[in-house]
Order: sequence, then structure tokens, then C-alpha cells
Amino acid sequence: MSNGETLRVAVIGAGLSGTVAARYLCDHGCEVTLFDKSRGTGGRLASCRLGDNSVDLGLPFFESAGVRFNRWLERQVEAGILSHWYPSHQLFNGDLIESPRVYAATARMSALTRSLISDCHLISKKRISLVWPSREGISLRDEDNRLSGEFDAVLIATPAPQAVPLLDGVGRFRSRAAAVEVQPAWVTALTLMEPLNSPVELISGEHEVFHRLVRDSAKPGRQGADRWVLEARADWSRQHRRDSPDYVQHRMLTAFEDLLGPLPEISDIRTHRWLYSHTQGSETQLCLWGEDVCIGVCGDWFAGGGVEGAFESGLALAEKVMQSLTAGRPVEVEAEQTG
Ligand SMILES: Cc1cc2nc3c(=O)[nH]c(=O)nc-3n(C[C@H](O)[C@H](O)[C@H](O)COP(=O)(O)OP(=O)(O)OC[C@H]3O[C@@H](n4cnc5c(N)ncnc54)[C@H](O)[C@@H]3O)c2cc1C
Repeated sequence: MSNGETLRVAVIGAGLSGTVAARYLCDHGCEVTLFDKSRGTGGRLASCRLGDNSVDLGLPFFESAGVRFNRWLERQVEAGILSHWYPSHQLFNGDLIESPRVYAATARMSALTRSLISDCHLISKKRISLVWPSREGISLRDEDNRLSGEFDAVLIATPAPQAVPLLDGVGRFRSRAAAVEVQPAWVTALTLMEPLNSPVELISGEHEVFHRLVRDSAKPGRQGADRWVLEARADWSRQHRRDSPDYVQHRMLTAFEDLLGPLPEISDIRTHRWLYSHTQGSETQLCLWGEDVCIGVCGDWFAGGGVEGAFESGLALAEKVMQSLTAGRPVEVEAEQTG
């Protein structure tokens, strides 16, 4: 601690796990600096411009899950960031099924992470390439080898493959990150000039190409032209991982038309490959915290995985950091999942 009583903490990654951790640490009096290589926040909760509107290009909505996560989702509804959504739901075989209750962002998914860190210091478009413990603290360097700051603790909140090079200073964590497999996902977002002649808002189930089709413009609070986000299956995405976006777009559009009939004219379209979309077989621990080096790791490769895993992991790591650095009590290096 170099600055009186204030702990300087760096969080690398402004996705859900990193922003949840940053929120907790800010609330507990730390001076938090977040770094993200992207232009904004959200990570896999990203939204992008499509013509005059915005679409959710990553996670399309949250589903109800464990008690703590649910309670937190409900608080975001009370704050007006998320809304309950009951999309009209059809299976790929055409059967209509009961609408699930899900949570969709009222404006765009990335508004959630943005609101969590509204009072934290965010340095965007900054890719960190080195995290190194020293006597003065932990140094961060960017990809041009420029010093990005020195901190009392560093939290790495990136997908596992992107955490590997950041863990050169903590070999025991590096090997854990290197063993994690993450699936890719191709996503195509499109705007139609005329709305599709169908009331359906969510299509899922078994399909050769698709995992899920979401009518983004039907989410609560959204306006404007009919917009769809088509998400390919993980195995199909893996098979087409190295294909060009144009080719993948053509294949996804053909499959979409095979399902729903000829499409009205498309005014805007974008195809994106998520190289790291879903973590395969995540760790059961909630996070990793190295008390000797003051470096920790969280994200969706812990706590059972998925977006709820990212939430639980970010929170658990932030709690560990506070417990370890403020009380001076010895803590376990690995936090076990408590259920
Ligand atoms: C299309 C899609 C659909 C999904 N559907 C579901 C679903 O239905 N259910 C579910 O549970 N999960 C789903 N997921 C997964 C879910 O979105 C993720 O598990 C969760 O959002 C991960 O959050 P995170 O904070 O761990 O990581 P991320 O959101 O990946 O955040 C990591 C951040 O770190 C930044 N970063 C990486 N390296 C560096 C570096 N060196 N320097 C600086 N910044 C760096 C990245 O830019 C990113 O912003 C889906 C994901 C996608 C893409």
C-alpha cells in the first residue's frame, strides 16, 4: 500500500467478471483502474451499431439461475438496466413452446457493465501484455512495453487463453489457464427493411447450423426496424473457424431462409467470429488468488462457467482480495465453491 490506506487495484478485462469485481472493490474503498483492449466495456456482453440501432452481439439475455445471481439480476431490473422479457418461443421444428422468463438489457447489454463501473477509472483500447510482481508493487506493461502503472493487487478477468501470457509471473496459475478450452461462435446480426411475417421472437432447439435465433428488436425498450441475431452452434463454428466472414454469412443466411422462408431485403448486416465464446468444462473453484504475489484470476472458466460463473467468480475474487489485503489474515490460495 503506497498511498496511505488506499489500495491500488488493477482489473484487466471489463467484462462481467471484471466489472463485478471492480464494483465490489470500489464500494470497499479501493482505488480501482480497469484496463480493456476493446473500445468499450462488456466483453462477451458486447453490443454493436447496426445501421441506426444497436444490437447485442454476444450474450443475448440472462436466464434465471442461482439465488445470489437472481437477486442481483432483480436489482438490475429495479435500477432500470435490465427488464423481464417473455419472448414468444419456437423450436427449430416449428413447435411453439412456453415463453421463458429471461432478463434483457433495456437499452443494450453493454449498458450493464458500463453502469457497474460508472465511477471507476476505465482505460480502454489498452491491451496489457505483462503483469510482473516486484518489491514496489505489481507492474503492468502494455503491448508496446510501456509501463501502465504499479498496483498493490492485480485481478486478471479475461478468457483463459488470454490470461495465459499475463500469468508468466505465476507459473502455477498459468498452467491452469493453459489447460482450459474455449469454443468459438459465429454470430450474424441483420436488419430487415420490412418485418418478418412471424410473431416469433426466440427460436432454439436442435439445428444443424444454429444454436439460437433472437429477435433483438423485440426486446423490451428497443425500437426501430426488425433486427435478428443468428448464433451458430459451437461445433459448426469450430468447423468453420477459419472460413471468411463472407462465406459464413452466406451459409447462415441460407439456413435462416430455409427455416423461415424468403427474407425481406436486408438493410444492414454484420458477421462476427467470437474466438472465445463458451468455456468447455470450467473449473469448480470460484477463482484463484495468489496471496504471495497479490495476483488473482477470475472469469467464466470458474464457478461452473457461463455468465453466472463469471459473476460468481468476479465477486469471489474481489472478496478474497479485500479479506487478504485489509485484514492481513491468511487465506486459502484457491477458494472452493460453496454452492
Ligand atoms: C454469442 C454468445 C452467446 C452466449 N450465450 C451464453 C448463454 O446463453 N449462457 C451463458 O451462461 N453464457 C453465454 N455466453 C458466455 C458469456 O457471455 C460469458 O461466459 C461471460 O460474459 C464471460 O464474462 P467474463 O467477464 O468472464 O469474460 P469477457 O466477457 O470475455 O471479458 C473479458 C474482457 O477482457 C478483455 N481483455 C482480454 N485480454 C486483455 C488484455 N490482454 N488486456 C486488456 N483487456 C483484455 C476483453 O476485451 C474483454 O472485454 C455467450 C457468449 C457469446 C459470445
